[in-house]
Amino acid sequence: MLPVEFIDSMRQQLGNEAELLLRALETEPVTSIRLNSKLDVLTFDCDVDEVPWHVDGYYLSERPVFTLDPLFHAGCYYVQEASSMFLQQALEQYVDPSSIVLDLCAAPGGKSTLISEYLGSEGLLLSNEVVRQRVFVLSENIQKWGNGNTVVTHNTPAEYGERCRHLFDCLVIDAPCSGEGMFRKDEQARSEWSPRAVKLCAERQRSILMDVWDALKPGGILIYSTCTFNEEENEKNVEWVADTLGAEIMPLDYEPSWGVTESTMGYHFYPHKVRGEGFYLCVLRKLDNEPVQTVKIKPKTESRRIPDRPAQTEMMRGWLQHPEAWAIRYTDRFATAYPVQYKELIDFLSTQLTCISTGFGLGEERGKGMAPQHSLSMLKDLRKEAFPNVALTLEQALAYLRTEALMIPDLPMGMQLLTYEGVPLGFAKNVGNRLNNLYPNEWRIRKL
Ligand code: SAM
Repeated sequence: MLPVEFIDSMRQQLGNEAELLLRALETEPVTSIRLNSKLDVLTFDCDVDEVPWHVDGYYLSERPVFTLDPLFHAGCYYVQEASSMFLQQALEQYVDPSSIVLDLCAAPGGKSTLISEYLGSEGLLLSNEVVRQRVFVLSENIQKWGNGNTVVTHNTPAEYGERCRHLFDCLVIDAPCSGEGMFRKDEQARSEWSPRAVKLCAERQRSILMDVWDALKPGGILIYSTCTFNEEENEKNVEWVADTLGAEIMPLDYEPSWGVTESTMGYHFYPHKVRGEGFYLCVLRKLDNEPVQTVKIKPKTESRRIPDRPAQTEMMRGWLQHPEAWAIRYTDRFATAYPVQYKELIDFLSTQLTCISTGFGLGEERGKGMAPQHSLSMLKDLRKEAFPNVALTLEQALAYLRTEALMIPDLPMGMQLLTYEGVPLGFAKNVGNRLNNLYPNEWRIRKL
Protein backbone atom coordinates (compact mmCIF):
# COMPACT_ATOMS: atom_id res chain seq x y z
CA MET A 1 0.00 0.00 0.00
CA LEU A 2 1.22 3.48 -0.83
CA PRO A 3 1.14 5.93 2.12
CA VAL A 4 -2.08 8.01 2.03
CA GLU A 5 -0.28 11.30 2.59
CA PHE A 6 2.08 10.48 -0.28
CA ILE A 7 -0.93 9.92 -2.58
CA ASP A 8 -2.37 13.29 -1.51
CA SER A 9 0.91 15.11 -2.03
CA MET A 10 1.34 13.65 -5.54
CA ARG A 11 -2.23 14.65 -6.42
CA GLN A 12 -1.41 18.18 -5.35
CA GLN A 13 1.87 18.23 -7.25
CA LEU A 14 0.80 16.51 -10.47
CA GLY A 15 -2.98 17.04 -10.70
CA ASN A 16 -4.73 14.44 -12.88
CA GLU A 17 -1.42 12.89 -13.94
CA ALA A 18 -0.91 11.65 -10.37
CA GLU A 19 -3.27 8.69 -11.01
CA LEU A 20 -0.98 7.44 -13.81
CA LEU A 21 2.04 7.68 -11.53
CA LEU A 22 0.29 5.94 -8.64
CA ARG A 23 -0.77 3.10 -10.93
CA ALA A 24 2.75 2.75 -12.35
CA LEU A 25 4.11 2.46 -8.80
CA GLU A 26 2.06 -0.73 -8.37
CA THR A 27 3.66 -2.43 -11.41
CA GLU A 28 6.87 -4.49 -11.60
CA PRO A 29 10.21 -2.63 -11.62
CA VAL A 30 12.45 -2.76 -14.68
CA THR A 31 15.88 -4.45 -14.67
CA SER A 32 18.78 -2.70 -16.36
CA ILE A 33 22.55 -2.93 -16.50
CA ARG A 34 25.39 -0.72 -17.68
CA LEU A 35 28.13 -2.47 -19.59
CA ASN A 36 31.79 -1.95 -18.72
CA SER A 37 34.21 -1.22 -21.56
CA LYS A 38 36.11 -4.32 -20.30
CA LEU A 39 33.81 -6.27 -22.55
CA ASP A 40 32.71 -5.73 -26.16
CA VAL A 41 29.71 -8.01 -26.16
CA LEU A 42 27.63 -9.47 -23.37
CA THR A 43 24.93 -12.04 -23.85
CA PHE A 44 21.99 -12.68 -21.55
CA ASP A 45 19.37 -15.41 -21.88
CA CYS A 46 16.56 -12.88 -22.33
CA ASP A 47 15.53 -9.97 -24.54
CA VAL A 48 17.74 -6.92 -24.35
CA ASP A 49 16.83 -3.32 -25.25
CA GLU A 50 18.88 -0.14 -25.28
CA VAL A 51 18.53 2.54 -22.60
CA PRO A 52 18.16 5.60 -24.84
CA TRP A 53 20.13 8.10 -22.70
CA HIS A 54 23.23 5.99 -22.10
CA VAL A 55 25.15 4.23 -24.84
CA ASP A 56 26.19 1.38 -22.50
CA GLY A 57 22.81 1.00 -20.77
CA TYR A 58 20.54 -2.02 -21.48
CA TYR A 59 17.16 -3.18 -20.24
CA LEU A 60 16.79 -6.89 -19.57
CA SER A 61 13.36 -8.47 -20.07
CA GLU A 62 14.02 -10.76 -17.07
CA ARG A 63 16.11 -10.45 -13.94
CA PRO A 64 18.86 -13.09 -14.06
CA VAL A 65 20.45 -14.43 -10.87
CA PHE A 66 23.45 -12.14 -11.17
CA THR A 67 25.30 -13.95 -8.38
CA LEU A 68 25.59 -16.99 -10.65
CA ASP A 69 27.32 -15.03 -13.40
CA PRO A 70 31.13 -14.84 -12.96
CA LEU A 71 31.19 -11.84 -15.33
CA PHE A 72 29.10 -9.90 -12.82
CA HIS A 73 31.78 -10.51 -10.16
CA ALA A 74 34.48 -9.53 -12.63
CA GLY A 75 32.90 -6.08 -13.01
CA CYS A 76 31.87 -6.56 -16.65
CA TYR A 77 28.61 -4.74 -15.94
CA TYR A 78 26.87 -2.91 -13.12
CA VAL A 79 23.22 -3.54 -12.30
CA GLN A 80 22.01 0.05 -12.36
CA GLU A 81 18.60 1.59 -12.38
CA ALA A 82 18.06 3.03 -15.90
CA SER A 83 16.81 6.52 -14.96
CA SER A 84 19.92 7.29 -12.95
CA MET A 85 22.09 6.68 -16.03
CA PHE A 86 20.78 10.09 -17.19
CA LEU A 87 23.75 11.46 -15.23
CA GLN A 88 25.76 10.69 -18.39
CA GLN A 89 23.87 13.43 -20.25
CA ALA A 90 24.75 16.01 -17.60
CA LEU A 91 28.42 15.00 -17.74
CA GLU A 92 28.58 15.06 -21.54
CA GLN A 93 26.93 18.46 -21.71
CA TYR A 94 28.77 20.26 -18.88
CA VAL A 95 31.84 18.39 -17.62
CA ASP A 96 35.12 17.98 -19.47
CA PRO A 97 36.59 14.45 -19.19
CA SER A 98 39.83 15.96 -17.84
CA SER A 99 37.99 17.23 -14.75
CA ILE A 100 38.50 16.54 -11.07
CA VAL A 101 35.13 15.30 -9.83
CA LEU A 102 33.82 14.56 -6.33
CA ASP A 103 30.96 12.08 -6.00
CA LEU A 104 30.04 12.94 -2.42
CA CYS A 105 27.31 10.40 -1.56
CA ALA A 106 28.66 7.52 -3.58
CA ALA A 107 27.88 4.07 -2.08
CA PRO A 108 27.26 1.52 -3.47
CA GLY A 109 28.87 3.08 -6.53
CA GLY A 110 26.45 3.08 -9.47
CA LYS A 111 27.09 6.72 -10.31
CA SER A 112 30.78 6.56 -9.40
CA THR A 113 31.45 3.73 -11.85
CA LEU A 114 29.59 5.74 -14.50
CA ILE A 115 31.66 8.86 -13.75
CA SER A 116 34.90 6.86 -13.63
CA GLU A 117 34.12 5.50 -17.09
CA TYR A 118 33.31 8.98 -18.40
CA LEU A 119 36.60 10.43 -17.07
CA GLY A 120 38.66 7.50 -18.40
CA SER A 121 42.39 8.15 -18.36
CA GLU A 122 42.04 11.94 -18.37
CA GLY A 123 40.22 12.92 -15.20
CA LEU A 124 40.25 12.03 -11.51
CA LEU A 125 37.30 10.91 -9.38
CA LEU A 126 37.06 11.21 -5.61
CA SER A 127 34.32 8.83 -4.58
CA ASN A 128 33.15 9.40 -1.03
CA GLU A 129 30.84 7.67 1.41
CA VAL A 130 30.24 8.97 4.93
CA VAL A 131 28.59 5.80 6.31
CA ARG A 132 31.33 3.42 7.43
CA GLN A 133 29.49 0.14 6.67
CA ARG A 134 28.82 1.28 3.09
CA VAL A 135 32.28 2.47 2.13
CA PHE A 136 33.76 -1.02 1.60
CA VAL A 137 31.15 -2.11 -0.93
CA LEU A 138 31.85 1.16 -2.72
CA SER A 139 35.56 0.41 -2.82
CA GLU A 140 34.84 -3.14 -4.04
CA ASN A 141 32.66 -1.90 -6.90
CA ILE A 142 35.22 0.72 -7.90
CA GLN A 143 38.02 -1.86 -7.95
CA LYS A 144 35.92 -4.29 -9.97
CA TRP A 145 35.14 -1.58 -12.51
CA GLY A 146 38.89 -1.39 -13.04
CA ASN A 147 39.81 2.08 -14.32
CA GLY A 148 42.30 2.97 -11.56
CA ASN A 149 41.32 6.66 -11.79
CA THR A 150 39.40 6.80 -8.51
CA VAL A 151 40.21 7.52 -4.87
CA VAL A 152 37.62 6.18 -2.42
CA THR A 153 37.28 8.23 0.75
CA HIS A 154 35.32 8.14 3.99
CA ASN A 155 34.78 11.77 5.01
CA THR A 156 32.01 14.15 5.94
CA PRO A 157 30.80 16.81 3.50
CA ALA A 158 32.17 19.46 5.93
CA GLU A 159 35.65 17.89 5.86
CA TYR A 160 35.63 18.19 2.09
CA GLY A 161 34.38 21.79 2.29
CA GLU A 162 37.10 22.76 4.77
CA ARG A 163 40.07 20.81 3.41
CA CYS A 164 39.56 20.90 -0.37
CA ARG A 165 38.61 24.51 -1.02
CA HIS A 166 37.89 25.22 -4.70
CA LEU A 167 39.47 21.93 -5.75
CA PHE A 168 36.70 20.34 -7.78
CA ASP A 169 35.52 21.14 -11.29
CA CYS A 170 32.36 19.17 -10.59
CA LEU A 171 30.45 17.94 -7.54
CA VAL A 172 27.95 15.13 -7.93
CA ILE A 173 25.53 14.99 -5.01
CA ASP A 174 23.17 12.04 -5.27
CA ALA A 175 21.60 12.93 -1.99
CA PRO A 176 20.15 10.59 0.65
CA CYS A 177 16.41 11.13 0.21
CA SER A 178 12.95 9.90 1.14
CA GLY A 179 13.10 7.39 -1.76
CA GLU A 180 9.62 7.85 -3.28
CA GLY A 181 11.05 6.88 -6.66
CA MET A 182 11.99 3.46 -5.22
CA PHE A 183 8.50 2.62 -3.93
CA ARG A 184 7.94 -0.20 -6.42
CA LYS A 185 11.39 -1.70 -5.88
CA ASP A 186 11.75 -1.34 -2.17
CA GLU A 187 9.02 -2.09 0.37
CA GLN A 188 11.10 -0.50 3.12
CA ALA A 189 11.09 2.84 1.29
CA ARG A 190 7.26 2.81 1.51
CA SER A 191 7.16 1.87 5.17
CA GLU A 192 9.72 4.48 6.21
CA TRP A 193 8.11 7.33 4.27
CA SER A 194 6.25 10.12 6.12
CA PRO A 195 5.80 13.87 5.62
CA ARG A 196 8.19 14.32 8.54
CA ALA A 197 10.81 12.11 6.82
CA VAL A 198 10.51 14.30 3.70
CA LYS A 199 11.10 17.41 5.80
CA LEU A 200 14.09 15.89 7.59
CA CYS A 201 15.60 14.69 4.30
CA ALA A 202 15.20 18.15 2.75
CA GLU A 203 16.96 19.72 5.75
CA ARG A 204 19.76 17.17 5.66
CA GLN A 205 20.24 17.74 1.93
CA ARG A 206 20.63 21.47 2.52
CA SER A 207 23.23 20.96 5.20
CA ILE A 208 25.16 18.56 2.94
CA LEU A 209 25.08 21.12 0.13
CA MET A 210 26.12 23.97 2.41
CA ASP A 211 28.91 22.00 4.09
CA VAL A 212 30.56 20.88 0.85
CA TRP A 213 29.95 24.03 -1.20
CA ASP A 214 33.42 25.54 -0.69
CA ALA A 215 35.01 22.47 -2.31
CA LEU A 216 33.52 23.48 -5.70
CA LYS A 217 35.50 25.89 -7.88
CA PRO A 218 33.83 29.17 -8.80
CA GLY A 219 32.27 28.45 -12.20
CA GLY A 220 32.25 24.72 -11.37
CA ILE A 221 29.32 22.37 -11.95
CA LEU A 222 27.03 20.87 -9.32
CA ILE A 223 24.95 17.88 -10.41
CA TYR A 224 22.26 17.37 -7.79
CA SER A 225 20.03 14.31 -7.90
CA THR A 226 17.59 12.32 -5.77
CA CYS A 227 15.37 9.31 -6.30
CA THR A 228 12.30 11.08 -4.97
CA PHE A 229 9.45 13.05 -6.55
CA ASN A 230 8.54 15.78 -4.04
CA GLU A 231 9.45 19.44 -4.55
CA GLU A 232 10.83 19.94 -1.03
CA GLU A 233 13.82 17.71 -1.70
CA ASN A 234 14.18 18.71 -5.35
CA GLU A 235 13.11 22.05 -6.81
CA LYS A 236 13.00 23.89 -3.47
CA ASN A 237 16.51 22.78 -2.54
CA VAL A 238 17.88 23.62 -5.95
CA GLU A 239 16.27 27.05 -5.78
CA TRP A 240 17.81 27.53 -2.35
CA VAL A 241 21.28 26.63 -3.71
CA ALA A 242 20.85 29.11 -6.57
CA ASP A 243 19.64 31.95 -4.33
CA THR A 244 21.61 31.36 -1.13
CA LEU A 245 24.86 29.70 -2.16
CA GLY A 246 25.01 31.43 -5.55
CA ALA A 247 24.53 29.34 -8.69
CA GLU A 248 22.64 29.37 -11.96
CA ILE A 249 20.45 26.54 -13.15
CA MET A 250 21.57 25.03 -16.44
CA PRO A 251 19.37 23.45 -19.12
CA LEU A 252 19.94 19.95 -20.50
CA ASP A 253 19.21 18.74 -24.02
CA TYR A 254 17.25 15.51 -24.31
CA GLU A 255 15.13 13.71 -26.86
CA PRO A 256 11.36 14.20 -26.39
CA SER A 257 10.87 10.46 -27.04
CA TRP A 258 12.75 9.65 -23.81
CA GLY A 259 9.76 10.65 -21.69
CA VAL A 260 11.75 13.00 -19.42
CA THR A 261 9.64 15.67 -17.66
CA GLU A 262 11.17 19.14 -17.48
CA SER A 263 10.03 20.96 -14.34
CA THR A 264 10.50 24.58 -13.30
CA MET A 265 14.03 23.58 -12.30
CA GLY A 266 15.60 20.28 -13.29
CA TYR A 267 14.30 17.05 -14.81
CA HIS A 268 12.05 14.31 -13.47
CA PHE A 269 11.84 10.67 -14.43
CA TYR A 270 8.34 9.41 -13.67
CA PRO A 271 7.79 5.64 -14.00
CA HIS A 272 4.55 6.18 -15.94
CA LYS A 273 6.52 8.03 -18.63
CA VAL A 274 9.94 6.35 -18.71
CA ARG A 275 11.20 2.77 -18.46
CA GLY A 276 12.87 3.27 -15.12
CA GLU A 277 12.32 4.24 -11.50
CA GLY A 278 11.67 7.70 -10.12
CA PHE A 279 14.61 10.08 -10.41
CA TYR A 280 15.31 13.82 -10.35
CA LEU A 281 18.40 15.63 -11.63
CA CYS A 282 19.40 19.26 -11.92
CA VAL A 283 22.64 20.87 -13.13
CA LEU A 284 23.82 24.12 -11.58
CA ARG A 285 26.85 26.27 -12.29
CA LYS A 286 28.43 27.97 -9.27
CA LEU A 287 28.68 31.72 -9.78
CA ASP A 288 32.13 32.81 -10.81
CA ASN A 289 32.22 35.83 -8.50
CA GLU A 290 35.11 35.01 -6.19
CA PRO A 291 38.77 34.34 -6.93
CA VAL A 292 39.77 30.68 -7.10
CA GLN A 293 41.64 29.83 -3.92
CA THR A 294 42.77 26.24 -4.01
CA VAL A 295 44.48 24.57 -1.09
CA LYS A 296 48.24 24.81 -1.29
CA ILE A 297 49.70 21.43 -2.12
CA LYS A 298 52.86 20.94 -0.11
CA PRO A 299 54.93 17.95 -1.24
CA LYS A 300 54.45 15.23 1.32
CA THR A 301 57.33 14.56 3.69
CA GLU A 302 58.93 11.32 2.64
CA SER A 303 60.40 10.52 6.06
CA ARG A 304 57.81 7.94 7.15
CA ARG A 305 57.86 6.18 3.79
CA ILE A 306 59.85 3.15 2.95
CA PRO A 307 62.04 4.26 0.03
CA ASP A 308 61.04 3.06 -3.42
CA ARG A 309 62.36 -0.37 -4.29
CA PRO A 310 63.64 -0.21 -7.85
CA ALA A 311 63.85 -3.95 -8.58
CA GLN A 312 60.35 -4.70 -7.31
CA THR A 313 58.95 -1.59 -8.97
CA GLU A 314 60.46 -2.61 -12.29
CA MET A 315 58.98 -6.09 -12.00
CA MET A 316 55.50 -4.79 -11.14
CA ARG A 317 55.59 -2.30 -14.01
CA GLY A 318 55.81 -5.36 -16.24
CA TRP A 319 52.30 -6.31 -15.08
CA LEU A 320 50.83 -3.18 -16.72
CA GLN A 321 50.06 -2.33 -20.33
CA HIS A 322 50.94 1.35 -19.82
CA PRO A 323 53.39 1.43 -16.92
CA GLU A 324 54.27 5.05 -17.60
CA ALA A 325 50.68 6.08 -16.81
CA TRP A 326 50.93 5.11 -13.13
CA ALA A 327 52.72 6.44 -10.06
CA ILE A 328 53.57 3.74 -7.51
CA ARG A 329 53.58 4.24 -3.75
CA TYR A 330 54.61 1.81 -1.03
CA THR A 331 52.81 1.71 2.31
CA ASP A 332 54.20 -0.96 4.59
CA ARG A 333 53.98 -4.21 2.57
CA PHE A 334 51.66 -2.84 -0.09
CA ALA A 335 52.29 -1.10 -3.40
CA THR A 336 49.47 1.07 -4.72
CA ALA A 337 49.29 2.65 -8.17
CA TYR A 338 47.39 5.75 -9.28
CA PRO A 339 47.38 8.10 -12.28
CA VAL A 340 50.79 9.71 -12.58
CA GLN A 341 49.40 13.07 -13.72
CA TYR A 342 47.61 13.42 -10.37
CA LYS A 343 50.47 12.15 -8.21
CA GLU A 344 51.09 15.35 -6.23
CA LEU A 345 47.41 15.99 -5.73
CA ILE A 346 46.67 12.43 -4.59
CA ASP A 347 49.69 12.39 -2.28
CA PHE A 348 48.43 15.62 -0.76
CA LEU A 349 44.83 14.46 -0.49
CA SER A 350 45.90 11.31 1.27
CA THR A 351 47.25 13.53 4.07
CA GLN A 352 43.93 15.41 4.29
CA LEU A 353 41.29 12.72 3.81
CA THR A 354 40.53 9.22 5.02
CA CYS A 355 41.41 7.25 1.89
CA ILE A 356 40.04 3.71 1.72
CA SER A 357 41.53 2.89 -1.69
CA THR A 358 43.73 5.01 -3.93
CA GLY A 359 43.83 4.00 -7.58
CA PHE A 360 44.38 0.25 -7.37
CA GLY A 361 46.32 -2.22 -5.27
CA LEU A 362 49.25 -3.34 -7.42
CA GLY A 363 51.42 -5.63 -5.32
CA GLU A 364 52.03 -7.00 -1.88
CA GLU A 365 55.32 -8.04 -0.33
CA ARG A 366 55.40 -11.81 0.09
CA GLY A 367 58.67 -13.31 1.29
CA LYS A 368 61.44 -11.75 -0.78
CA GLY A 369 59.26 -10.82 -3.75
CA MET A 370 56.07 -9.01 -4.63
CA ALA A 371 52.78 -10.82 -5.32
CA PRO A 372 50.02 -9.14 -7.34
CA GLN A 373 47.02 -7.81 -5.40
CA HIS A 374 43.53 -8.88 -6.44
CA SER A 375 42.68 -5.35 -7.53
CA LEU A 376 45.30 -5.66 -10.32
CA SER A 377 43.35 -8.56 -11.84
CA MET A 378 40.31 -6.27 -12.16
CA LEU A 379 42.29 -3.47 -13.81
CA LYS A 380 41.70 -2.76 -17.49
CA ASP A 381 45.37 -1.82 -17.85
CA LEU A 382 46.49 -5.27 -16.61
CA ARG A 383 48.92 -6.96 -19.01
CA LYS A 384 47.33 -10.38 -19.00
CA GLU A 385 50.34 -12.05 -20.64
CA ALA A 386 52.43 -11.18 -17.58
CA PHE A 387 50.95 -14.28 -15.88
CA PRO A 388 50.03 -17.76 -17.09
CA ASN A 389 46.30 -17.60 -17.92
CA VAL A 390 44.01 -20.42 -16.82
CA ALA A 391 40.58 -20.52 -18.46
CA LEU A 392 37.92 -21.77 -16.01
CA THR A 393 34.63 -23.48 -16.72
CA LEU A 394 31.48 -22.00 -15.18
CA GLU A 395 31.58 -24.55 -12.38
CA GLN A 396 35.24 -23.87 -11.62
CA ALA A 397 34.69 -20.10 -11.78
CA LEU A 398 31.85 -20.27 -9.22
CA ALA A 399 33.95 -22.51 -6.96
CA TYR A 400 36.79 -19.96 -7.20
CA LEU A 401 34.39 -17.11 -6.33
CA ARG A 402 33.22 -19.10 -3.30
CA THR A 403 36.95 -19.28 -2.31
CA GLU A 404 36.91 -23.07 -2.54
CA ALA A 405 40.09 -25.02 -3.27
CA LEU A 406 40.61 -25.78 -6.97
CA MET A 407 42.23 -28.86 -8.43
CA ILE A 408 43.49 -28.14 -11.95
CA PRO A 409 46.23 -30.50 -13.23
CA ASP A 410 49.29 -29.64 -15.34
CA LEU A 411 49.72 -25.98 -14.43
CA PRO A 412 53.09 -24.24 -14.14
CA MET A 413 54.21 -23.42 -10.60
CA GLY A 414 53.53 -19.98 -9.10
CA MET A 415 50.99 -17.26 -9.73
CA GLN A 416 48.19 -17.93 -12.24
CA LEU A 417 45.64 -15.50 -13.64
CA LEU A 418 42.25 -17.23 -13.67
CA THR A 419 39.88 -16.16 -16.42
CA TYR A 420 36.31 -16.85 -17.40
CA GLU A 421 35.31 -16.24 -21.04
CA GLY A 422 38.60 -14.38 -21.43
CA VAL A 423 37.92 -11.99 -18.53
CA PRO A 424 40.19 -12.06 -15.45
CA LEU A 425 38.51 -13.21 -12.23
CA GLY A 426 41.55 -13.12 -9.94
CA PHE A 427 44.75 -14.90 -8.99
CA ALA A 428 45.61 -18.31 -7.58
CA LYS A 429 48.99 -19.73 -6.71
CA ASN A 430 50.08 -23.19 -7.74
CA VAL A 431 52.20 -24.53 -4.89
CA GLY A 432 52.58 -28.00 -6.39
CA ASN A 433 50.11 -30.17 -4.53
CA ARG A 434 47.33 -27.54 -4.59
CA LEU A 435 46.18 -24.25 -6.07
CA ASN A 436 45.92 -21.57 -3.37
CA ASN A 437 42.76 -19.56 -3.92
CA LEU A 438 43.62 -15.84 -3.54
CA TYR A 439 40.12 -14.43 -4.13
CA PRO A 440 39.37 -11.81 -1.42
CA ASN A 441 37.48 -13.54 1.37
CA GLU A 442 35.26 -10.52 2.01
CA TRP A 443 34.07 -10.52 -1.63
CA ARG A 444 33.33 -14.24 -1.86
CA ILE A 445 29.93 -15.60 -2.87
CA ARG A 446 28.40 -16.64 0.43
CA LYS A 447 25.26 -18.40 -0.75
CA LEU A 448 23.96 -19.51 -4.11
N1 SAM B 1 25.18 7.53 -5.57
C1 SAM B 1 24.93 6.19 -5.11
C2 SAM B 1 24.87 5.26 -6.29
O1 SAM B 1 24.60 5.72 -7.40
O2 SAM B 1 25.14 4.05 -6.12
C3 SAM B 1 23.68 6.12 -4.23
C4 SAM B 1 23.75 7.09 -3.10
S1 SAM B 1 22.42 7.02 -1.97
C5 SAM B 1 21.13 7.75 -2.84
C6 SAM B 1 22.88 8.28 -0.84
C7 SAM B 1 24.14 8.01 -0.04
O3 SAM B 1 24.34 9.12 0.86
C8 SAM B 1 24.09 6.77 0.83
O4 SAM B 1 25.18 5.94 0.54
C9 SAM B 1 24.18 7.30 2.25
O5 SAM B 1 24.92 6.46 3.10
C10 SAM B 1 24.87 8.63 2.07
N2 SAM B 1 24.58 9.60 3.16
C11 SAM B 1 23.70 9.46 4.19
N3 SAM B 1 23.76 10.53 5.00
C12 SAM B 1 24.69 11.36 4.49
C13 SAM B 1 25.20 12.63 4.89
N4 SAM B 1 24.75 13.25 5.97
N5 SAM B 1 26.17 13.18 4.14
C14 SAM B 1 26.62 12.57 3.02
N6 SAM B 1 26.15 11.37 2.59
C15 SAM B 1 25.20 10.79 3.31
